[in-house]
Amino acid sequence: MPVVSKVRVSPSWGEANKIGQPDYTIESRRVFVSAGYELNYNEAFKTFGVSFSNEVSPFPQVVVPLAPGDTQILIDLETGLPMPYILPVGYSLKILSDIWSYSARARTAIRVLGFYYGGADSDTLGTNYYNAVGGFSTEPFDPTFLTPIPLQLDVENIDGNDIHGYWLASTVLTAESTPPFPEVKEVRCKFCEFQEEVDWKTTLHKCSGCGATNIYLSHTRGRKVI
Ligand SMILES: [Zn+2]
Repeated sequence: MPVVSKVRVSPSWGEANKIGQPDYTIESRRVFVSAGYELNYNEAFKTFGVSFSNEVSPFPQVVVPLAPGDTQILIDLETGLPMPYILPVGYSLKILSDIWSYSARARTAIRVLGFYYGGADSDTLGTNYYNAVGGFSTEPFDPTFLTPIPLQLDVENIDGNDIHGYWLASTVLTAESTPPFPEVKEVRCKFCEFQEEVDWKTTLHKCSGCGATNIYLSHTRGRKVI
């Protein structure tokens, strides 16, 4: 865990890299980028979310306000694909934190293997941080990592008014018994639903189907060798 008192933003990368000079860039990065979570070489961040707004946006999670009685499934911010996210064989996924804010009463659900697993009603702002022991992980559902596990988060409007706001879940994907992470990913255009394969680092991307611009996330992958 990073020690807060050690954190100092370096004057510049060049200066920090001078031989014999103190280098605080790693500590700074741990605090500001990963909020204290250190990724191992076989781990990567992954985020699912939705943001209800009338603003037009190239970000896949931004959708129109949720009408009473409607349900919205969360979207993979790396690919634009709606959940369920199918966890591939050989991987586990754990939820590190989630944060939400709804303008009207919402009912959220987490579904594992196609079944309701848990959820809550909320109409306020909230944040949960989970630790490695008590948090949600796919590992107990199959400790052998031999089964693809569908995972879905969704939110239903149980109020009489439209919901503005958001729900964002930060997770860590871990390669348990597989080769390194793939170099490509399948992305989906939020405007025409065209899907295509792109480099895993792709963020701003012009859809080959309709020409519209989408912006996807490209999350940090761990570099620490264990
Ligand atoms: Zn398109």
